[in-house]
Amino acid sequence: STLPELDEAVTGCRACPRLVSWRERVAEEKRAAFRDQEYWGRPVPGFGPSDASLALVGLAPAAHGANRTGRMFTGDRSGEVLYRALFDVGLASAPHSESAGDGLRLYGTRITAPVRCAPPANKPTPAERDTCSPWLAREFELLRPTLRVVVVLGGYGWQALLAVLAAGGWEVPRPKPRFGHGARATLRDPAGAELVLLGCYHVSQQNTFTGRLTPEMLRAVLGRAKEAAGV
Ligand code: SF4
Repeated sequence: STLPELDEAVTGCRACPRLVSWRERVAEEKRAAFRDQEYWGRPVPGFGPSDASLALVGLAPAAHGANRTGRMFTGDRSGEVLYRALFDVGLASAPHSESAGDGLRLYGTRITAPVRCAPPANKPTPAERDTCSPWLAREFELLRPTLRVVVVLGGYGWQALLAVLAAGGWEVPRPKPRFGHGARATLRDPAGAELVLLGCYHVSQQNTFTGRLTPEMLRAVLGRAKEAAGV
C-alpha cells in the first residue's frame, strides 16, 4: 500500500473498544459546541508528505484537538505552539493549523503518533499502545526510503517508537538510548542507512505553560532536525 492508502485505512480502525467508545462519546457530547464544524471523532492519520525526510512523533490525539479536527496537533494549545515553531524554522507553509481543510503544507516533514485515538486523560493503556503499533510500524516502513531524522516529543513516544523500530529490524544501540530533551540516538536500518532520533520535551501545556519547554528550545531542536534531515 501507499502512505495515503494507509492514512485512509487507519481512520476506519476500531480495534480498541475503550478508545472507540471514548472518542465517539467526546465527539457526541461536544458536537453541539462546535456546530459549525464536522467533529472528527475517529483515528487520526499522520500528516505530511509521503517522501518526508523528517518525522515528528508525539503521543496521541487530544480529545478536543486532533480528535475534533482530524489532523495531528490541530485545534488545541499544544498544536499552536508546535505549528508556530514549524513555520518559524521553515517547515510549514503557515504559522497556524486551523483544520484539516485549511491548505497548510508541511515541507519534507510528517507528524504522527504511536496511538491514533484520543485516550481518556491522555493515557493509553499498554495494550492499546501495542494494538496501535502496527500502524506506526507500517508508516515508518513506507517512509524508510527518505526518512533521516525523527524528533520525538516526550518519553512516551520515545519508548514506543524504539520498540516499533527494533521490531522492524532497525538496529537500536545498547544500552537502549534514554529519553531527554536534547537526547540523540542513531539507529541503523536493515540496509545500513542511519536514522537519527532527537528527543524534545512534549509541547503539552504542562511543559509550555511552566517554561520547561520554551519556543526557543523547540525552534532549536526543529532547526537542528531540519538541517540534519537536509530539508
Ligand atoms: Fe485502532 Fe490505534 Fe485507534 Fe486502537 S488506538 S482503535 S489500534 S487506531
